[in-house]
Parts: sequence; C-alpha cells; structure tokens
Amino acid sequence: MRKGLLKKVRRIVVKIGSGVLTSEDNGIDPLFLSRLAGELAQLRADGIETVVVSSGAVAAGRPALGLTDRPKTLPQKQAAAAVGQSRLMRAYEEAFSQQDLTVAQVLLTRDDLVNRRRFQNARSTLDTLLAYGIVPVINENDTVVVDELKFGDNDNLSALVTNLVEAQLLIILTDIDGLYTADPRTDATATIIPMVRGITKDLERAAGGSGTSVGTGGMATKLAAAKKVMRYGVAAIICAGKTPGTLTRAMAGEEVGTMFAPAERSLNRRKHWIAFTLRPAGSIRVDAGAREVLARHGRSLLPSGIEKVEGRFERGACVRVLAPDGAEFARGIVDYSSQEIERICRHKSSEIEEILGFRYGDDVIHRDNLVLL
Ligand code: GLU
Repeated sequence: MRKGLLKKVRRIVVKIGSGVLTSEDNGIDPLFLSRLAGELAQLRADGIETVVVSSGAVAAGRPALGLTDRPKTLPQKQAAAAVGQSRLMRAYEEAFSQQDLTVAQVLLTRDDLVNRRRFQNARSTLDTLLAYGIVPVINENDTVVVDELKFGDNDNLSALVTNLVEAQLLIILTDIDGLYTADPRTDATATIIPMVRGITKDLERAAGGSGTSVGTGGMATKLAAAKKVMRYGVAAIICAGKTPGTLTRAMAGEEVGTMFAPAERSLNRRKHWIAFTLRPAGSIRVDAGAREVLARHGRSLLPSGIEKVEGRFERGACVRVLAPDGAEFARGIVDYSSQEIERICRHKSSEIEEILGFRYGDDVIHRDNLVLL
C-alpha cells in the first residue's frame, strides 16, 4: 500500500522539529544529526534528493542568553534565533560532512513566498543547490520576521516548501510516534492511525494542541501541514524522529508513523499558492446563483453575482469568496480593486466600461485564479 505511493518519490522535504534535534539540556544533539546524515546519504545513493526544513535555532540559542524556558518576548526569541541559527548550521555541517554531504543555509520569510517573483527566485536557488547535490537546510528567518509575516511554525513552512520545490513527499520527524486516535498521554486506549486518506473534523479534534515545551507546533499544526500537501497531490508521513532508522524505514514503505495519502483531485502549483500561501486581503460575498456556477461548473466570477465587498484591496489581491450564509468556499485573485468592485457589483460585465470608464476584462476573478476550498 505505502510502497505504491512511494514509488514515484524522487524529491522529499524532511522537517526536523526542535524536540528531536535538541537533547534535554537544549543543546543540539550531534548523535541525532549524524544518524540523519547517514540516512539521507543512503537515500541520495538511491537517487532521492532531500530538502531539510529545520527548527532548533531558538532552542539552540537559549543557553547563550541564559534562558532556561522558552523566550517570552519576540526580541528575546529573535536574539536567541540569531545566536542559535549559526550554531545549528555548524552542527549540520559537521554531521553532514562526515557523509560527504554539503549543506546550505536558506532562511525564508512568508513574504518571500507570497510574492510570486520571489517565490520563483527562491525556487531557482533551491533547484540549483539540488542540482549541485547540496542539501538545503531551510528555517524561518526568525531574526527579522514580524508577526504579520510569520509562517507561524515550521510545520506550515515545510508544507509550503514542499510546494515550492515540487517534492513528492513531506516527512515530518517529531517527538510523537504519529497521529493517534486520541491523546495518548491521557487515553490509554489510543492507537496510531497508520493511513489517513482525508482529514476530517474528528481527526482534527483528536490532534489537539501543542505537546512539548521546545517546539511551536503540536499535532494540530502537523495535521494542517499534511492537509496542505495532500491538496497538492503529495503524500506526507508523520513519524518519530528520535528512533534510529525511522526515516529509512518510512522510505522503504514500512508502516511507521502515520501516512497521509495524496488527494485524488489535486491543485496545480499556482492554485495551491493562491489557496495556502497568499493571505486574503478582504472578502467578496456572492449570491446563490453565482455560488452555484462557481462551485459546480468552475466558471469565473462575474460582477453580476457579487452582493457585497468587505475590506480594502487592490487589483491583484487575494480575497475570500463567501457564500450567501457567509461561509468561505473559494479564494481567488481579483482583477478589480475593492472600490471598483463596489461600483460594478450586481451589474452586467457589458456595463463595466460605462461605469468605470475602463475595463480590464469581464471577470472579477478569472477561473484560472479561483480555487474552490
Ligand atoms: N524557527 C524556529 C526555530 O528555529 C522554530 C519554529 C517551529 O519549530 O515551528 O527555532
């Protein structure tokens, strides 16, 4: 079963959580890294390219600042990351060079992936590194990032990177064995779910909140990451990172952790980027008829079906598309600004020019820029 899904995998993203990378005293665990290097070197010999998304900068920088607990303020966190990031890379370099692997540091902010040109630029750099046989080690650029530009957690970052580099598999190495039917810390009957084909509300409930004191994410953010890559037609595996050989066994198709099967109807890269990387700047509420033609027939959104505009946004912004009851059912990139839409809504496309004095086209959102959620 798993073997079938892994057959075509040539490029993987491996996300390493702070909890597996650092030991009890918050130092980086060199033993873990040398084992990881060994496993990735073996995969490379088998023709599989790897991009690593690694947490651990903040955790590794904490001791230098004399912090025993998680940093409380943002500047403290950023200072810890500044110290820790170079320690982190040094540890990667030392461990990976033992296996003749070269690593490269890549620090990203959300903005780098939201802007299409920067997205493409980041992508070419990563492609070039991979072509040279180098292993990119990506982290969020914690030292400069501000709240609004944050990926939030590295689980989310790893999902977006999977889309960025067009990997066929995301492996999240964490300190939990996989997705359980219930919280194993409080429920003794909880068992691991070996395969997930679709993420339901029940699964999301079972995933609960954050588990450890070092990482930012819990099972909930991992599930959200898996959901994102599934929509992109990519598989994900969440498994225990500390156990030696887990990665190798997961890649061999053994039943470790939880595997998430790719969605059958997947989004292309651009639509995935619209749905998951861009941040909506406002929303457009449509009437029942428009909802029907968008949702069922995959048409473009015309001004005539628009009831109401919320928020201020420019042409080219990403917006939420809401059903008459206010529920979001799609997202898309608008061809008109919020002020223009306010004036042309409920009118026929043929009237656009008369109302605005110009026209970009008939649609407010062209169907190529519209993603149903
Ligand atoms: N970027 C953070 C770090 O390197 C980790 C964020 C996360 O674990 O989600 O410490």
